[in-house]
Amino acid sequence: MITPTIAAMDTTLIEQLVYMASAFFFVTGLKKLTKVKTARAGNRMASIAMLVAVLMTVYLVAFKGQFHGDSVEAIKASIPWMVGGLVVGGLIGIFLAKKVEMTEMPELVAFFNGMGGASSLFVALATVVAFGSGAVSIGSEQTLSAFKGGDISLSIGLSILIGSVTLTGSLVAYAKLSGKMWKNRFGPVGTPGLNILLAVAAIGLVVFGGFLATGAMSTTAFLILTAVALFLGVGLVVPIGGADMPVVISLLNSYSGIAAAMTGFILQNNLLIVAGMLVGAAGLILTQIMCKAMNRSLSNVLFAKFGEDDGEKGDTEYKGVTSTSAEELAPLLEAASKVIIVPGYGLAVAQAQHKCRELGDLLEATGIDVSYGIHPVAGRMPGHMNVLLAEADVAYEKLFDLDQINGEFKNAEIVIVIGANDVCNPEAYDNPASPIAGMPVLDVWDAQTVIVIKRSLSAGYAGIKNPLFERDNCLMFFGDAKQALEDMVTEFKDL
Ligand code: NDP
Repeated sequence: MITPTIAAMDTTLIEQLVYMASAFFFVTGLKKLTKVKTARAGNRMASIAMLVAVLMTVYLVAFKGQFHGDSVEAIKASIPWMVGGLVVGGLIGIFLAKKVEMTEMPELVAFFNGMGGASSLFVALATVVAFGSGAVSIGSEQTLSAFKGGDISLSIGLSILIGSVTLTGSLVAYAKLSGKMWKNRFGPVGTPGLNILLAVAAIGLVVFGGFLATGAMSTTAFLILTAVALFLGVGLVVPIGGADMPVVISLLNSYSGIAAAMTGFILQNNLLIVAGMLVGAAGLILTQIMCKAMNRSLSNVLFAKFGEDDGEKGDTEYKGVTSTSAEELAPLLEAASKVIIVPGYGLAVAQAQHKCRELGDLLEATGIDVSYGIHPVAGRMPGHMNVLLAEADVAYEKLFDLDQINGEFKNAEIVIVIGANDVCNPEAYDNPASPIAGMPVLDVWDAQTVIVIKRSLSAGYAGIKNPLFERDNCLMFFGDAKQALEDMVTEFKDL
């Protein structure tokens, strides 16, 4: 039976103050991230705070024997591991930051979330093994019924549970997003059998909670919990459709923070608790914002699709599509007084953000009012379009979110949709059986003329037809977004 405790932290006031300063800069950095102008500074501030926190922890472990008693051998043995971890982790981080394309960001975030969960899981398991083998002092009389005083069993259990679900759930999300798993991302993957297994796993967890309350706990029980929770992570994410993946990733991000906070309780590290809860809360808020953007409740995203198809794809044949060219569009644009640009995933693929700004500037220089309509899930990660347009120096005041811009389309002579598809698909309103039914979309068709720039009539992420392309006021300009925009700029200049 394990009744673990860890001796109270032997830290000085200065060391605690360094941790508190790091926590303060995490919060301030996070606040700065909410504005484009201060976002870089906020990111830098939080990164430096994290570096200081890591170095302080290394100092505490290496020079004060934290977590190792006072055994000089144990301290010495831990130093190469810590330095090795810092160097290897740092190098992988630099490599990924340089290599990964903007369009692969969601996969990367999913992967990072998984690694966060894995870290919490391994710290918790290492603690269980250390207590079980008597390598760390074990409290004698404390029960496992609650987390009080030095009793950390509940934190270990939660760290294992949430860390494992985050690990396997994130890996499934990664595989789905990168197309390594279930090519048809909207295919039916839930089965009644899976639901039964998940129900059994959930009951198992309740029974485990009961054991935890009586104190009848062992290393084996924690290992069984790990296995059940790893399965739960896979089982919960597998049935969720690809269109809901952004929400799932955001939720898993929140889980990874909560798991880290639980690990903070295990290690009695206040900063880890604060940082973990910041991630947990931020992830939950983002999850809620995204659910709203897709007009879904969280329970609907997580559970509604179990055992069902994700909705019908319907007909993918197009009739009566009107295609156009840069020469035809130039005079149309010249005659407009208000133009709204709607960017989507294709803008990111083509890296057309600079050309997009060039066209916008050109139109504005002739007195045309130009604004940008940004859908919350346009692209492949939250804020994807904002980041791209900020990179191209498009003024932030010109970007309007869905609620702000939807009433404006009817006042625009022209809307230019650049590589966007699902976020302006009227099926969301018109077809209750559609996978995107109920998702708020940009009402681009309200404008006098909609110009859609994309390479073909291929579907977007949701894999469904977009009847917008067949509407009378829609002109399709087929081609790579960057090239198409360049042609439009050239033709407009030649007028
Ligand atoms: P979509 O994925 O619906 O459509 C993108 C379109 O871009 C495609 O139809 C494609 O058509 C076109 N395209 C691709 N490459 C180019 C290119 N080089 N030049 C021009 N066009 C190109 O994108 P949206 O932004 O409209 O919608 C985002 C979708 O992604 C939503 O379904 C959302 O739920 C989902 N999602 C969002 C995430 C987020 O957090 N934002 C994360 C994960 C998924 P063609 O091949 O014909 O060129």
